Amino acid sequence: MRTGGSSKEPFGSFNMGLHVGDDPQAVISNRQTLCDELGFSFARFSCAEQIHGNKVMRITAAEAGAGRETFEESIAKTDGIYTDEKGILLTSFYADCVPLYFIDPASLAIGLAHAGWRGTVGRISEEMIRAFARDFGSKPEEILTAIGPSIGGCCYEVDDFVIDQVKQSSNRWQTCVTKTGQGKYMLDLKLLNQLIMEEAGIRPEHILRTDWCTSCRPDLFFSYRKEAGKTGRMASYIGWA
Ligand SMILES: [Zn+2]
Repeated sequence: MRTGGSSKEPFGSFNMGLHVGDDPQAVISNRQTLCDELGFSFARFSCAEQIHGNKVMRITAAEAGAGRETFEESIAKTDGIYTDEKGILLTSFYADCVPLYFIDPASLAIGLAHAGWRGTVGRISEEMIRAFARDFGSKPEEILTAIGPSIGGCCYEVDDFVIDQVKQSSNRWQTCVTKTGQGKYMLDLKLLNQLIMEEAGIRPEHILRTDWCTSCRPDLFFSYRKEAGKTGRMASYIGWA
């Protein structure tokens, strides 16, 4: 949600992104407010650079707190972060891209992945599931996931360049695409992520997928497309207190 913070427009008001031109002190204050509400230490507020890639990285106490006050100190060139340690608040930032959440109840591994169209077709969700299996012995059929608010199939128009890569990302890509004109398509990125998760071994009943569209509801969400790039970022977060 974009409400409840101290940033001024066009970042009004709960902007969590340090890289969008907002007053850094307002962003830090907003991040501290979130930590206070969650009962986490701001010193353990941890974030990654997010470059629309598919790399995921494990966060330990040594990396905890990365990027909380300056963007340059974020975990470099990474779009997914995960941990099994207590007291680390994993965060990532959004204005239309898809936030993905992961938890393995057996090992207590948790993770967040940032999936715009590039991360989605790069199957970053599968990268996270593989990392859980490798590092924690997680079984994909036991992992629970959630797919949060993003731009919806109602508002996300893309071109042939994007669709050519969507076609290679999942056998069921056609379910997510509606052709609307010559070289124009509407793409449901949330659904595409769900299909890729299922292909990676997640049980359908273990995937929670919201219908909220960030572009349809600028009163609730920041939307890069709706607001022509001048907007803030919402945070997704997950952590063991
Ligand atoms: Zn919409």
